[in-house]
Amino acid sequence: MGLVVQKYGGSSVADAEGIKRVAKRIVEAKKNGNDVVVVVSAMGDTTDELIDLAEQVSPMPAGRELDMLLTAGERISMALLAMAIKNLGHKAQSFTGSQAGVITDSVHNKARIIDVTPGRIRTALDEGNIAIVAGFQGVSQDKKDITTLGRGGSDTTAVALAAALDAEVCEIYTDVDGVFTADPRVVKKAKKIDWISFEDMLELAASGSKVLLHRCVEYARRYNIPIHVRSSFSGLQGTWVSSEPIEQGDKQVEQAIISGVAHDTSEAKITVVGVPDKPGEAASIFRTIADAEINIDMVVQNVSAASTGLTDISFTLPKAEGRKAIDALEKNRSGIGFDSLRYDDQIGKISLVGAGMKTNPGVTADFFTALSDAGVNIELISTSEIRISVVTRKDDVAEAVRAVHTAFGLDSESDEAVVYGGTGR
Ligand code: ASP
Ligand code: MG
Repeated sequence: MGLVVQKYGGSSVADAEGIKRVAKRIVEAKKNGNDVVVVVSAMGDTTDELIDLAEQVSPMPAGRELDMLLTAGERISMALLAMAIKNLGHKAQSFTGSQAGVITDSVHNKARIIDVTPGRIRTALDEGNIAIVAGFQGVSQDKKDITTLGRGGSDTTAVALAAALDAEVCEIYTDVDGVFTADPRVVKKAKKIDWISFEDMLELAASGSKVLLHRCVEYARRYNIPIHVRSSFSGLQGTWVSSEPIEQGDKQVEQAIISGVAHDTSEAKITVVGVPDKPGEAASIFRTIADAEINIDMVVQNVSAASTGLTDISFTLPKAEGRKAIDALEKNRSGIGFDSLRYDDQIGKISLVGAGMKTNPGVTADFFTALSDAGVNIELISTSEIRISVVTRKDDVAEAVRAVHTAFGLDSESDEAVVYGGTGR
């Protein structure tokens, strides 16, 4: 008898019907002889609605109170799910993150899990219960305040519990059939991936793929917990994310040369214009940004004009941090020394990911050829060993993703990818 952790996202439990459907699935897993721990997100767009509500009463709600508010969303779904399971004649108990032993640091709204002590969950399981745990939340170690793990954090809760309980697998149920070679909302011919390594999955997540959060995959890799991403709306096998390829039938799934194409339109570009081309300039720009606790992504420095000795430095960052970055740079203008700042939030990033590009020459050339054939202009380029990314105009992103997807032979011949629910919000 094994222990399975299952996580259901907001779109899977969007209404009473959804909750009843999910309850049936959970009971199936229990009937198959497993101990079952379920992590659940807030129903549908509840979290967004609670944030909207908070902003109506205060433009900048206090982090502690916002966490108190948001965790209510998961409390609603966990209690309803436990009721629905009991109604099917099985024992179930719901637990808040704090009751489940999810201990975090005290950074409100984006806390990190530092320990999981699932004593009460073990006891509940030993007594024959299905344990339902509220995702995305914990309790801070020092102040004992309620914290949240950041948007989409329920996946991380699930993997952390799976690690602490030594589960065989962490199943993440969502509104698509697994991880696809591109976002099925953009590429109708995207293919479901049967198996993907932690490394490629991490790179896809870092490049804007939303199906799994980077932090969750990082956690799974650290504790070597296989993740099975699948749909709660279909009975299909989904995508396995693990360190070793899985067997399917009697053959091993091969490592693909290219895992997929990710895109991201949540970033903006800042160009610092007229920076003196001398040592220490980049350092003081990025020190300023780091002191404002902003994470940046790509960086490009232009060739300096010989006549002026001045250069431009561009970098990308999350749009949400744009204001803060501009303010910090302006405040430090005399210290850094630059002419002006340009802010551009009409950009998008397209990334091609695959460990196979390390050993297959020509991937970069084919990537740029595909973009040029599609008439897409490139503004910034960055690469890692297993990824190539470019920044383009935001309006070109969908076209570019489809062009690259086709050029690398990733288009499926058969059925189109299905998106079962959710607003993609
Ligand atoms: N309900 C939270 C959110 O919408 C957490 C989650 O869904 O994982 O971000
Ligand atoms: Mg959600």
